[in-house]
Amino acid sequence: MANVNLIVGAGFSGATMARKLAEELNEKVIVIDAKSHIGGNSYDYRDNNGIMIHKYGSHIFHTNLENVWQFMSRFTKFNTYMHKVIAIIDGIETTIPFNFRTLYDVFPETLAKRLEEKLLANFEYNKKIPILEFQKQDDKDLKFLANYVYEKVFLHYTTKQWGVNPNEVDGAVTARVPVYISCDERYFQDKYQGIPLNGYTEVIKEMLNHPNIELRLNTKFEDIKESYDRLFYTGPIDEYFGYKFGELPYRSVNFKMEEYDMPYYQSNACVNYPCNYDFTRIHEYKYYLNDYSEKTVIAKEYSEFFERGKNERYYPIPNNESAKLYSKYKEEADKLSNVYFLGRLGDYKYYDMDKAINRALELFEEVKNA
Ligand code: UDP
Repeated sequence: MANVNLIVGAGFSGATMARKLAEELNEKVIVIDAKSHIGGNSYDYRDNNGIMIHKYGSHIFHTNLENVWQFMSRFTKFNTYMHKVIAIIDGIETTIPFNFRTLYDVFPETLAKRLEEKLLANFEYNKKIPILEFQKQDDKDLKFLANYVYEKVFLHYTTKQWGVNPNEVDGAVTARVPVYISCDERYFQDKYQGIPLNGYTEVIKEMLNHPNIELRLNTKFEDIKESYDRLFYTGPIDEYFGYKFGELPYRSVNFKMEEYDMPYYQSNACVNYPCNYDFTRIHEYKYYLNDYSEKTVIAKEYSEFFERGKNERYYPIPNNESAKLYSKYKEEADKLSNVYFLGRLGDYKYYDMDKAINRALELFEEVKNA
């Protein structure tokens, strides 16, 4: 008789794994989620104005992974959206990552030109330099620039987002938004970018739409009494082990939604406030799919610590302490047979959507060949 698989969590990781097991191995898959909806934190819905709202904040699909793009494209068409992020620096609207255009937006032309020439003399064009590396400058002008970017783009934003200053956050996190020696103003340079035309929830729904897959919402792992041959757990790995070594820390986010009686509130889908206010950024969702409405909906994003029962897990906090704690759980996990952990919470990794899908596709190959 075919194997029965239980998948905990109906986000991208769980849905990808479910689809592969169901169609390639022709096995039965039960997918459960404690929430009342599928999609995990990529869940979106159309509100009564017809605007597609990303309930858990802006999600932009971007990837260089051919296999992931092909897999996604089986379940949706994409628009040709290329994400830009506007930041308000010194009251000036400009783009980040900090690039040559930003230079000319925020500095007088003569200074911008001098800095541009020095940058071109010292760095290869189109190189991305993490801010923590960019700060290591000897030249007086470039040192001034590095301090400016650190202060105006990273320092306050990162303190709001992570509760600590950029030097105390894992370098990989701030390196996601480098200093970009380029005129390219886009947020991502990936070959494939876009927003699924009918939203993310529909993509997941299509992935799960297979006769071998049974979906149960509002269902906790403890509620499952029947037996299964393999378990794929995309929930928090520390929760699975009853927090026996302690809790893995996360940052959470609180979105304050506001509706306005005007077609647009701001000039872009995402506007960052690295220097002002207590929120980090404002999302205006109608931009993503060009939704037509005389009203608009925005969400102000406030970061906070994750506390169980109070808010949701969003971002694992990469540092030495959490890495040590995670490795204890991982060691326990490796002792189990036919139990697999994946996803941001299962692997305790700051995955983007494409990386979460890729991890599920790779794990599927391992399981298939086991
Ligand atoms: N960051 C920053 N200023 C910005 C944008 C990003 O300091 O205007 C830093 C911040 O530490 C943030 C990290 O870069 O957590 C990664 O940003 P990204 O936009 O990739 O985060 P996500 O969209 O995943 O929340």
